[in-house]
Order: sequence, then structure tokens, then C-alpha cells
Amino acid sequence: MEPKLDGNAAAGTLEEIFPFEMTMARATCAHCGAANMLGAAGAYMHGMGTVLRCPSCEGVLMRMAHMHGSYWLDMRGVRSLQMSEAAG
Ligand SMILES: [Zn+2]
Repeated sequence: MEPKLDGNAAAGTLEEIFPFEMTMARATCAHCGAANMLGAAGAYMHGMGTVLRCPSCEGVLMRMAHMHGSYWLDMRGVRSLQMSEAAG
């Protein structure tokens, strides 16, 4: 079994893609409708990439990988994603 981390562990990759503080982004789960900060999501790091799971229902929110010079995102588990403009 992969060790379970929290969403902060995935923030580095997310912040290479999105110009926002992604641990503070609020994701609405497509499975259960709960809205949680990505920093509160469960993160599972695989050799192939990272899986973020909803802290409410454990459904997969997002899969991401960075390989061969490309980023790959599967966001079918996120109904909406709300990001605040950077402060200052
Ligand atoms: Zn959920």
C-alpha cells in the first residue's frame, strides 16, 4: 500500500501548472458534493503520479502525472474548482 499523505504533498506539482496557492483551492467533489480545500485531500503518491482523494467520501478527485515533459491531469472527480486570486 502506498503511504497516505495530505494534499500539501501534491501542491508542488499543482503549483507548477496553476498560478495559485493550490492547497487553498476549494474543490467540490463530483461523487459526494462536499467542498474541501485541496490541502485537506488525501494524496497517494505512485510511481506513475499522484492521486488526490476526497476527505469526505474517499472518491478520486484528481489524478496527475508529470512525465516525458508533459503534465497529465484527470479531473473528472472535481465538479468545480475555486481558486482565490493571490493576495497582495
Ligand atoms: Zn467526496
